[in-house]
Amino acid sequence: MKTNYGAVFKKNPLFDNCPNCNTANMLRRSHARNFKESVIKGITPFKLYRCKNCGWRGYISTFSFNARSIRLIISYIVLASVTGLVVYKILQSFVK
Ligand SMILES: [Zn+2]
Repeated sequence: MKTNYGAVFKKNPLFDNCPNCNTANMLRRSHARNFKESVIKGITPFKLYRCKNCGWRGYISTFSFNARSIRLIISYIVLASVTGLVVYKILQSFVK
């Protein structure tokens, strides 16, 4: 299950394989046990997951980048730089 936000894909790690035992469909959302864990859950795209199969517990990002999105991000940066440079040159010609 993937939602397309243009450059970045939001994925549901519930459908990922466990990073420890590599078993599919065994990950479940885990509740934060302490303040630090709830802060990480709150401010980063990483969420706590637990594996029903091997007992692994850790953070998995809910966002993923693919080759297409990386190209898109690079082209945005290039476009922004070129636009910035052009605006800078135009402003420079007015100052003279
Ligand atoms: Zn596992």
